[in-house]
Amino acid sequence: MNELNCNACGKQFSTKYNLRKHVEALHLKLKPYTCQTCTKTFAYKHSYCQHMQVHLRVAASSDQSFPQAQTLKALSALLTKPYNPPPAPSKAQNKVDLTSVSR
Ligand SMILES: [Zn+2]
Ligand SMILES: [Zn+2]
Repeated sequence: MNELNCNACGKQFSTKYNLRKHVEALHLKLKPYTCQTCTKTFAYKHSYCQHMQVHLRVAASSDQSFPQAQTLKALSALLTKPYNPPPAPSKAQNKVDLTSVSR
């Protein structure tokens, strides 16, 4: 009788640790891995890691979208602004040139 067989389903394992993990996860419904972000629980480390990737990806994309949104805002502000240089007297010619150069 192999003691590395699962009592509940008869599955065989190479180590006691794996057997214990299997019993805890599948038969005792124990999930030792808890996500600190959304408190979801996971039976296996690899599924936990996989889940954490989701959070990391979300964080990364939201980090990127922030400056992008800022740029879009500035861009749309520029686009909605009609391009008409202020009718300046000839004395202020230099000022007008500066503003048009810097956009
Ligand atoms: Zn089992
Ligand atoms: Zn989570």
